[in-house]
Order: sequence, then structure tokens, then C-alpha cells
Amino acid sequence: MDTLTVAKRQERMARIKSCGTRPELQLQGLVRGLGYHYQKNDECVPGSPDVTLTRIRCAIFVHGCFWHRHRCDAGRRVPKSNVRFWTGKFALNIARDRRVGRELRKAGWRVLVVWECQLRDHRRVARRIRAFCAQR
Ligand SMILES: [Zn+2]
Repeated sequence: MDTLTVAKRQERMARIKSCGTRPELQLQGLVRGLGYHYQKNDECVPGSPDVTLTRIRCAIFVHGCFWHRHRCDAGRRVPKSNVRFWTGKFALNIARDRRVGRELRKAGWRVLVVWECQLRDHRRVARRIRAFCAQR
């Protein structure tokens, strides 16, 4: 079995999915439902967050649990083959998330991370987003 090919393919699939994925659309739908005017993937903002509310300087990301290593079952999963490849990849993602978070805060943004698994409870996420945006 050519495991590298499998890993590469999975990576590629994930990359394709990372643009306009369902979690992103769900997040954007929730923000829209709350009546906020938002921008998506604004490239002028560090990390081009999934959602930015420019006027109140709020940035919201939806992170895939597996790729960004959430403390849930999906985020603890490590494929059995090519462990070094995966752990390296995960470390890069985590480092990047931290760097982007720092850059955003330095530039005066507030940052909210919504995990993919949390989107299962729409109402709860919507409440969190509303509370986050209402904070000053
Ligand atoms: Zn999760």
C-alpha cells in the first residue's frame, strides 16, 4: 500500500474543501442570521479570516477539528500511517493559527474561533457570536 499517496490525496482533498466549505458557509449563514454585515476571507486582514466585521473589528474563524487540533475526538485523531508527516503538518497549522491570532490582536482585532464540531449546536454558536460581537 502506498501510504504517502493516500496522505497526499487526503491533504489535497482537504485543501480543496478548505475554500467555501460547508462549515464556512454555516458560519457565514449564522452571522448573516444575526443581522451583521460581514466580509468573507478579506485578504487585507491577517490570516484572511472566514468572517470579518470590519466596523467593530471582529474576526471569526471556523476551524476544522482535525486540521487545527481541537480538544475533541476528531482533533485527537492521528492517522496510523505517516505519523511524522501528520504531526509535522499539525504543528505547522497550530503555529500558523497562533501567529495569525497574534497579528490580528496586534492590529486591534478581536478574534473568535468556532470549532467545526461546535457548529452542530447552531443556537449555542449563534449566542456565542452575538455575545462576542456585543463585547467592547
Ligand atoms: Zn472539535
